[in-house]
Amino acid sequence: MRSPQVVRDPSLPAEVTIWEVGPRDGLQNESRVVPLAVKVELVSRLVATGLPVVEATSFVHPAWVPQLADADELIDRLAADGLLAGGTPLPVLVPNERGLDRALRAGVTHVAVFLSATETFARRNLNCGLDEQYTMADPVVMRAKAAGLHVRAYLSMCFGDPWEGDVPVEQVAAAGRRLLAMGADQLSLGDTIGVGTVGHVTALLRTLAAGGTGPEQLAMHFHDTYGQALANTVAAMRAGVTTFDASAGGLGGCPFAQSATGNLASEDLVWMLDGLGVRTGVDLGALVATSDWFAGQLGRPSPSRVVQALAD
Ligand code: MG
Repeated sequence: MRSPQVVRDPSLPAEVTIWEVGPRDGLQNESRVVPLAVKVELVSRLVATGLPVVEATSFVHPAWVPQLADADELIDRLAADGLLAGGTPLPVLVPNERGLDRALRAGVTHVAVFLSATETFARRNLNCGLDEQYTMADPVVMRAKAAGLHVRAYLSMCFGDPWEGDVPVEQVAAAGRRLLAMGADQLSLGDTIGVGTVGHVTALLRTLAAGGTGPEQLAMHFHDTYGQALANTVAAMRAGVTTFDASAGGLGGCPFAQSATGNLASEDLVWMLDGLGVRTGVDLGALVATSDWFAGQLGRPSPSRVVQALAD
């Protein structure tokens, strides 16, 4: 299989953690419901590619996200297959205390909470106000930390909001500080509609750093809707960020724009990082083969340019 010529850029980090979100963020935004056995195979194949983290599912109410209604069974199956304690964290999204209870019962070690940087998205997605969302998340984070779990906090609409338009970087930085102060181990900044550009990324990370939030506490969750995700990734790497969210095969589409690309494809990210000589631990060939197989399961081609170029 073709691979890029490796040319190091010494100004960039030597190693990056790819936080795979396909089975959770990807599948929750796919219209088709994937059978449980196929999900089990997807997670297990993704782990086998060397991805260091594979976010598995969400303990959200099945009525909200029917695509992930089998979350308990999936985690049970992954536990039975030895994957839950297998050394690769399989985080689960927990929207509230009930979700956390399910996660604790299932024996997961990593959970994630989900908040919004904007008032409108908090109301539409979480059904509460901007301040209320912290009241809801606080006991989840506190109890998860007390139980010894790793807690990631997602913050969405960090670079723009479909209803509010521009989102001030100070507003995002303040929300991020509040989540980290609550006790979250890591903050993932989401460009939910993919409108961020390089200067914006740099400005947001500079504002966060000036307020005491360093890049080691952050992950970036870029969407490729406007083709900016890789450029934005390099900008964030230059600012010292070393954790990036991506979705195998670009799973997920964009929930806010029909037929647009959503999540940055993990393969596109790995190809670029391989070319830069940045270590990820991921076997690109195995990842492409997995996404090619899964595209067949979904009945539509992967939107990933690298999958399109490399799959046979
Ligand atoms: Mg996403």
